[in-house]
Amino acid sequence: MRNTIFALVVGLILLVTSPVQSAKPIKALIIEGQNNHGVWPKTSRMMKSYLEQTTLFEVDIIRTIANGTDPDFKPRFGDYGVVISNYNGAAWPAETQQAFVEYVHGGGGFVVVHAANNAFGNWKEYNEIIGLGGWGGRSEKSGPYVYFNAEGKQVRDESVGRGGHHGSQHPFAVITRDSKHPITKGMPSQWLHVQDELYDLLRGPAQNMHILSTAFASKEKGGTGRHEPMIFTVNYGKGRVLHTPMGHGDYSQECVGFIVTLQRGAEWAATGKVSQDIPSDFPTADEISQRKFEGK
Ligand code: ZN
Repeated sequence: MRNTIFALVVGLILLVTSPVQSAKPIKALIIEGQNNHGVWPKTSRMMKSYLEQTTLFEVDIIRTIANGTDPDFKPRFGDYGVVISNYNGAAWPAETQQAFVEYVHGGGGFVVVHAANNAFGNWKEYNEIIGLGGWGGRSEKSGPYVYFNAEGKQVRDESVGRGGHHGSQHPFAVITRDSKHPITKGMPSQWLHVQDELYDLLRGPAQNMHILSTAFASKEKGGTGRHEPMIFTVNYGKGRVLHTPMGHGDYSQECVGFIVTLQRGAEWAATGKVSQDIPSDFPTADEISQRKFEGK
């Protein structure tokens, strides 16, 4: 009897202290501090909240100084499974640039959101990591335009011209081009995104890049008349990168399509897999779906 009680107690202790009872959270780091989008402190908190809602992530936010290169900006990238950039500002210190490239090349995850693809027009490796970018002095020297034509064929267009542009903001349809990829698997073939800037004319090295979803930038709204990349991945060394040009305003980031893209994209960037289901409030082809952000 005594032995039985002893075994039960030991069993209970093992059960309570067992490390396998919950998976280790993925550590994520959001970078902010400079951005021509004044909504940034809020959007960083929104993205932190979205990631933590999945219970998969533990999120830190790191902020640079407000102007110029921050000599003390030296995140420990290696501590994180995924880094998310909400940063569009001055160059990082050279050693931080190098540490970042080594982090992604060595297998670190990276997520680039909206104006973070405006940053660092002249930083060669950053542009290889993000695939495409806009503004920041980008031109035909930066690489081709990449888009889908009316026949659904991907085009690499080397023609001369600026990098980065958008027409007027509006809700727009996002078309799934690869429904087998872990990030887009289960998403509708078309869904309506909440009002946003529809980035077009992005250009860059576009190596090892895979387009998962596009949006048609109509000429009526001032766009190119092309199907522009809206969700895409880049492989850089062993690293996985998820890039979405969506997310201009806090309202744009309240779109359930944006939220799910971020949540799934960050998990995929960190692990190569996605364990999250598509939620029942995901937008449809005809209706937007917005979750009001309750925080500040
Ligand atoms: Zn914007």
